[in-house]
Amino acid sequence: MTPGRNYVGGQWVPARDGATFERRNPADPADLIGVFPASKPADATAAVDAVESARRAWAKADPEKRQRVLERTAELILAKLDPLARELTREEGKVLASATQEWRRTAANFRLYASEALRMQGETFSTAGDGLVYSVREPVGIVLAITPWNFPVSIPSRKIGPALATGNGVIFKPSEVTPLAGQRMVELLLEAGLPEGVIALVQGYGADIGDTLVKAGAVGAVTFTGSYATGCRIHQAAGPDKRLQLEMGGKNPCVVLADADPARAAQIATQGAFSLTGQACTATSRVLVVGDLYDAVVREIVAKAKSYRIGNGLDPQVTMGPLANEAQKQKVEAMIAVGKAEGLHIAFGEGDLEMPLPAPGHYVAPTVFVDVPPESRLSREEIFGPVVCVSKLASYEDALRHANAVEYGLAASVVTRDMGRALSFSADIDAGIVKVNSATGGVALNAPFGGFKHSSNQTNKEQAGHGVMDFYTRTKTVYLAT
Ligand code: NAD
Repeated sequence: MTPGRNYVGGQWVPARDGATFERRNPADPADLIGVFPASKPADATAAVDAVESARRAWAKADPEKRQRVLERTAELILAKLDPLARELTREEGKVLASATQEWRRTAANFRLYASEALRMQGETFSTAGDGLVYSVREPVGIVLAITPWNFPVSIPSRKIGPALATGNGVIFKPSEVTPLAGQRMVELLLEAGLPEGVIALVQGYGADIGDTLVKAGAVGAVTFTGSYATGCRIHQAAGPDKRLQLEMGGKNPCVVLADADPARAAQIATQGAFSLTGQACTATSRVLVVGDLYDAVVREIVAKAKSYRIGNGLDPQVTMGPLANEAQKQKVEAMIAVGKAEGLHIAFGEGDLEMPLPAPGHYVAPTVFVDVPPESRLSREEIFGPVVCVSKLASYEDALRHANAVEYGLAASVVTRDMGRALSFSADIDAGIVKVNSATGGVALNAPFGGFKHSSNQTNKEQAGHGVMDFYTRTKTVYLAT
């Protein structure tokens, strides 16, 4: 068992009051992953003070040093890939191939942002006489990164990477569901040479420490990924003078047009719906099928759902792992119950499995609701589990209208051979990411990422592009006279 600690002021420490929480393997709750500090406001304040006293030296460090630390972190991740991935599967539950892919992406993110350390550029402006007016980019100060459990290392890396590259101090508050992954991330950065105190790790429950961290005067920017409800809370707590990046939930549609191949459409829809046991913000949650193709698409989706092998993600035969914890399982089961109470028909669910769900472990069967009215609750609320709603629509216009008729706007896909329709769908859908003939989930390393509406406050896109580095830096204009 790993001893869980906070990292504050260059020291690995327990919570000041000694309080702890446990994390257990979602595939086998008897397997204790670790015991971690249940931090309180005093721990949060100590973390802010510690980073505040260390961050200025990091801001003034040679950019090549910042670059090297991030490059080295990537190298260390790749050197330890297999044990890191196994540990991630044990803690979060995703299948080993997905865990391996996530750590690889994490290394790639650190590489990408390493190079940004050398690209903090300002401008000069024409002015009268021999004076000079110029702007410089400087770090915002302390960046607070609050992250979810479903991508517990790749999401933090695309926040911590650019924050450190640009010379900020960082406070990292991982999800209480994946504390060990958070601790590993900080250990790797320190092993790679990150100076003590530039980062602080604060473990625990957001409800206990979130407000203290977000409201701290020394925190200049908050980058958050998680649910809409928590995003709203952070928005309220932050006040007007903090930079905020809020990346939140999704209710992502896959629209299947009448000219599509049903098998290909089902492959795209189910890959989107069931990868990572449906626990992706970009997961396909609604399949909107236009016209007579409907029955064939449903048949193919059911066949795909049936083909999943459910179990412990460390077993190489397994293609769907457990939900991340008991609470998550209960939420998903509650949404399945909502569908049943709404009188919706299940074409594939737990009762149709060839083998019973493994026990113990927080498992839910891939579940396919069909003939779902697009106005139903199941069609509108985020489920965050392996549940998909299939609806039949009379026309492309109807499908587009329903695709847009939810509060979220993160990802959407369309399956068609008609590139004209694909282009008009891409223009008319209210989603930050549009996929033509591929699943809603899975995004490029070097392309902007983020949603519209309730999915994001849309300050700066995450991942790549100038906007990312803008979020982590501020501009100062200098007037120089002789
Ligand atoms: P969550 O909102 O419950 O928790 C996210 C983080 O916020 C955790 O670290 C949590 O401890 C912290 N937190 C909780 N209360 C807080 C408070 N009052 N103040 C500050 N921090 C607080 O979300 P989750 O269950 O971890 O993740 C699932 C959600 O995340 C889903 O809605 C999913 O769609 C979303 N998500 C979005 C993206 C994206 O890029 N848009 C990516 C992954 C997940």
